[in-house]
Amino acid sequence: MKKILMIATGGTIASMGGEHGLAPAITGEELAANVPGIQDKCELTVFQLMNIDSTNMRPRDWIKIRDAVMEHYDSYDGFVILHGTDTMAYTAAALSYLIQDSRKPIVLTGSQKPMGNPYTDAKINIYQSLLYALDSQSCNVSIVFNGKAVAGTRGRKQRTRSFDAFESMNFPLLAIIHDDRIIRHYIGTPPEKEMLKTYHRLNDRVFVLKLTPEVKADIFELLIGHYDAVILETFGIGGIPEYEDGSFEKAIFGWINAGKTLAVTTQVPEEGCDLEVYRVGKKYSEHPGILKADDMTTESLVAKIMWILGQTNDPETIRTLFYKPVNHDRNTNI
Ligand code: ASP
Repeated sequence: MKKILMIATGGTIASMGGEHGLAPAITGEELAANVPGIQDKCELTVFQLMNIDSTNMRPRDWIKIRDAVMEHYDSYDGFVILHGTDTMAYTAAALSYLIQDSRKPIVLTGSQKPMGNPYTDAKINIYQSLLYALDSQSCNVSIVFNGKAVAGTRGRKQRTRSFDAFESMNFPLLAIIHDDRIIRHYIGTPPEKEMLKTYHRLNDRVFVLKLTPEVKADIFELLIGHYDAVILETFGIGGIPEYEDGSFEKAIFGWINAGKTLAVTTQVPEEGCDLEVYRVGKKYSEHPGILKADDMTTESLVAKIMWILGQTNDPETIRTLFYKPVNHDRNTNI
């Protein structure tokens, strides 16, 4: 029988209502005990790593989850991480960079309604995550939620209330899961055992700046003392304001010339960014210091840049690592 380690971290799935609102209270053991049939499928061990609302999940916690997986990596066939839905896409992306080319599946799940709610989605999500982690074709980091398996770098929490909380952005679902049946939508070659690469350093000084009409480029001056990288969410396919005073050109090239990292993406959820299309973006497209996100999610950009800057400060190495696809995080047809 395969062995699965379930790592509980909190979230709605473990929450109970109280005077001050929902908060994690139930243990991973109690959650697993509520899901019928799982003990017959595998040898399940539950490890309570933390019990927090994922709103409070920070890069240091991603490292704790990474460490919990790696300390037990050789003893288990797969891992299921119970996690709050609000920042699950960030954690899934971070784990995709911290643990790369894993033959063993690392699956994140949670629920929109607590286990104690009579209409909960917790049981089916835990059950299907285990099924997915037990399947021999599963590998790497993924999110399993509401019958969908999403690559760890492509998830986004798209709905705050429905059970169908997650979408796979700009990449096909890995699989859909109907009851006990896994129907693969993406069939890749699983990595060999020897390909596993792990990392344990992140630089959390990464800021996401969303452009809005009339936003002031001076914001870069405020950020410079606090952050090493900015991810700029531009308008449309890649529009950056071309105001008469040239303030954005000065601010952006000033940021790069100060040795800081800048990645450019779009605030439009689907289909990605291309700075070449309009004059309001093209002047930035040829500069090697500007990292072009293409169709990556902002969640993955945050995690990837934290991971890259945790390894190096060298601009050339930053570029190489940025453009190298990891766990399907970016389009490879370019
Ligand atoms: N606030 C909760 C969390 O992210 C929401 C959830 O789990 O659905 O921990």
